[in-house]
Amino acid sequence: MLFDAPDFDNHELVLFGRDPESGLKAIIAVHDTTMGPACGGCRMWPYATEADAVKDVLRLSRGMSYKNVMAGLPLGGGKSVLIGDPKTAKSDALFRAFGRMVESLGGRYIAAEDVGITVADVQVMGRETKHVAGLNHGAAASGDPSPFTAYGVYLGIKAAVKHRLGTDSLKGVRVAVQGLGNVGSHLCQRLADDGAVLVVSDIFADQAKQVVDRHGATAVDPSVIHAQDVDVFAPCALGGVLNEQSLPQLKAKVVAGGANNQLAVDAIGRQLRTLGVLYAPDYVINGGGIINVAGEVGGTYSKEAILAKVEAIHGTLADIFRRADAEDRPTNEVADQMARERLAAGRAKGMAKVA
Ligand code: NAD
Repeated sequence: MLFDAPDFDNHELVLFGRDPESGLKAIIAVHDTTMGPACGGCRMWPYATEADAVKDVLRLSRGMSYKNVMAGLPLGGGKSVLIGDPKTAKSDALFRAFGRMVESLGGRYIAAEDVGITVADVQVMGRETKHVAGLNHGAAASGDPSPFTAYGVYLGIKAAVKHRLGTDSLKGVRVAVQGLGNVGSHLCQRLADDGAVLVVSDIFADQAKQVVDRHGATAVDPSVIHAQDVDVFAPCALGGVLNEQSLPQLKAKVVAGGANNQLAVDAIGRQLRTLGVLYAPDYVINGGGIINVAGEVGGTYSKEAILAKVEAIHGTLADIFRRADAEDRPTNEVADQMARERLAAGRAKGMAKVA
């Protein structure tokens, strides 16, 4: 059943774990460890069926292989899911049981936070295993990844503006930012510093008001942020924002933002290309966060080394944009292809899989 599942992509390992006392029901998927130990978040969600949880962990772990290899990290791709409601089912016993499950893999998978999981939860896992990352205290703690994510997104916007609009400067470039949380607010600061003209939106009016007050941005209703007459649309809220409904309303020539899973389905990437919209693949442009978390793996943390890797996002995106033009293919397909090629090259070089 698992081997025939549409999202099964020759994953190296899928581990199912159950601890009746704490209520733990968990799945860890290690997709590929060619580049190093698999690293990716742990998600807690009240999945309607176990099949939904399996599908999610298979899809997300492959996504982490692509994201990590495109960020140039010595990490493979993995992910884990805990089946349960994060509002009611959390306990120290559950996270410790999960920590033991991670420990049983001997470092082949490194867990970090994801939807439904906080840094505090990861700290509890860390009482049973050292194979966790994204902590906010300890010798190599990397802290909040959002400023690094936002810096990468800012550089990615510059790469996309250069490619599509032919300018190196963001002065006067109109950018619509959707979602003004951790990533969106840091991004607005950088864009405003460069003289970009900001149109912003958040479902919480006070978040928007702060950005309006600080940067002289114009706030609009969340239902129309994607349809603004701007040069760049920067989704920094939830996934699926580029879909059959939003696409005909899009006026921007560039879509480049920090949100995960911006395309409702992969085929939207082709439609964006047909419309002449340059799309910066989400998992490449938002790699700054995982680059920062990865700085913690190995026990040392160097801000300079991390910034250098985040800065490489600009060149990686420029390569994707050029290749997409040369091959007349959507940027999301080109990014996936490049990720697969990098993994294949790693394998050909005999980079050892984690035993
Ligand atoms: P966040 O929760 O701090 O911010 C999200 C903001 O979006 C919130 O202020 C929320 O009110 C707003 N929002 C939600 N729905 C909206 C809508 N329909 N219209 C307008 N605003 C809306 O989250 P974050 O950490 O800033 O992450 C933002 C996105 O970036 C997410 O998709 C996340 O998965 C992705 N991401 C974040 C990081 C990171 O380092 N934090 C790294 C990689 C990817």
